[in-house]
Amino acid sequence: MSTNERILPKGVSETDFDAALDRFRETLGAEQVLIDSDRLAPYSKIMMAGDRDDYIPSAAVLPTSTEEVQAIVRVCNEYRIPIWTISTGKNLGYGSAAPGETGQVILDLHRMNRILDVDPDVCTALLEPGVTYQQLYDYIKENDLKLWLDPPAPSAIAGPVGNTLDRGVGYTPYGEHFMFQCGMEVVLANGEVVRTGMGGIENSSSWQVFKWGYGPYIDGLFTQSNYGIVTKMGLWLMPEPPAYRPFLIQYQNPEDIEEIVEVLRPLRIAQIIPNAVVIVHTLWDAGTHVTRKEYYDGSDSIPREAIERIKADEGIGEWNVYAALYGTPEQIEVNWKIVEQAFGASGKAKIMYGEEAEKRGGGFSYRSALMKGDMNLQEFGLYNWRGGGGSMWFAPVSQAKGSETKDQTELAQRILGKYGFDYVAEYIVGWRDMHHVIDLLYNREDPEETQRAHDCFAELIDEFAKRGYGLYRTNTEFMEQVAGTFGEPLREVHRTLKRALDPNGILSPGKSGIRL
Ligand SMILES: Cc1cc2nc3c(=O)[nH]c(=O)nc-3n(C[C@H](O)[C@H](O)[C@H](O)COP(=O)(O)OP(=O)(O)OC[C@H]3O[C@@H](n4cnc5c(N)ncnc54)[C@H](O)[C@@H]3O)c2cc1C
Repeated sequence: MSTNERILPKGVSETDFDAALDRFRETLGAEQVLIDSDRLAPYSKIMMAGDRDDYIPSAAVLPTSTEEVQAIVRVCNEYRIPIWTISTGKNLGYGSAAPGETGQVILDLHRMNRILDVDPDVCTALLEPGVTYQQLYDYIKENDLKLWLDPPAPSAIAGPVGNTLDRGVGYTPYGEHFMFQCGMEVVLANGEVVRTGMGGIENSSSWQVFKWGYGPYIDGLFTQSNYGIVTKMGLWLMPEPPAYRPFLIQYQNPEDIEEIVEVLRPLRIAQIIPNAVVIVHTLWDAGTHVTRKEYYDGSDSIPREAIERIKADEGIGEWNVYAALYGTPEQIEVNWKIVEQAFGASGKAKIMYGEEAEKRGGGFSYRSALMKGDMNLQEFGLYNWRGGGGSMWFAPVSQAKGSETKDQTELAQRILGKYGFDYVAEYIVGWRDMHHVIDLLYNREDPEETQRAHDCFAELIDEFAKRGYGLYRTNTEFMEQVAGTFGEPLREVHRTLKRALDPNGILSPGKSGIRL
């Protein structure tokens, strides 16, 4: 398909599409309805191993208020126009700002970027979808509030609403974002607005503090789904602690992942270590600032000998644990002793903080910043590791048990190796779970390599599912396959909800594999 050719939404006539575009222009003004391929180009960029032609929008609309979103949705319902919603549109490695399929109209909410409320007493915020982490961070600093955010790695450019709705993660004690979300305003497919939780009560003062409201809890229905458009979202912010100690623990052998997880789990569950800890493999830790070709130029998976050279040259471990303690200086001293004792028992770990950790190779400085909610873009360095712009996050969940992480690591390395890719990975530790996040990096400019990356990702999904490991999130190319691994009964429930809430199937068709 050529981008010069006019792209119409699936099943919509040219006349109807033109009529709908006119109605969008009446509501938003002509400037906020994009149809030229030049202006739509940023919405067609993908990093995943799919065909670019499968992800071209037919238009983009940019509202600034809930009322405008309602008006757009009503028009879409009338003409059966499918829309794909984005907030700040930086879902990089999971589909970017591109639609789920060619022909959908992008509903880009980045101009709805008001910070509606920040309450420093109960530590909450109410935001529109276009607010970025940087914007909220600046607001907090300008107003001298003692509050911390929990950004994901590309924080400065991404936003809390989109990230939370895709159930993203960060690195402070508030790392599991959906857990710290409270209250939503949602535009439904028929144009009506619903407020969740306590938001249904007029003038409620507890919308942002009590998650559950009355009756069935429905906020989850609007995450990783296509049942509504979130136009406001509440979230909890962390009070700035009096003291903070980020630290680094390095282990040198591949099989040490088992010991790390066994030592870490009880400390995490008991909240001795309260934050979303990461256990970073050599190639990720080095890959943020080292390129592959400095060590190996082959097109197959990087050999062990090269990994050992990287470890020695860079001063990083096979596994690098980044975590932090928070509280008063006295609390930190007590907890630090517990951490030192637990990790020191076997004699395998090198345990560091402060200057000693800063001097080691790897990502201590940017990780320390992320674990206290500061912004940086250091992780984008990973795109220079192999080069060529291809990136797909493969992110299966495991129990926080050493045996499972060892099994998952070996399985991933075997499959990636079969297709000639490197294991660039980390584990992000929740309370009892781990997100095993693997960046499948490849050269998108090379069609053969892109096809190989596609086949590799598909095999990873299937082979992991066969062993009982599902993904926590995926990119738009593989939504259907991943939904299949969770079984038909669940898919049927998703479909039933879709029919009830969006009978014309206009909202993000295909998101998470859900269609009418
Ligand atoms: C180097 C690098 C590191 C990364 N590290 C992390 C990380 O640490 N943690 C992490 O979670 N991710 C990470 N990512 C992935 C991703 O970039 C972030 O999750 C980012 O925050 C998502 O972009 P966004 O916030 O702009 O979301 P958006 O793209 O705006 O939204 C994400 C998706 O949510 C849905 N959605 C958005 N807004 C709405 C709405 N208003 N109503 C209904 N549905 C909506 C849509 O399906 C949309 O596609 C990383 C990416 C890169 C490149």
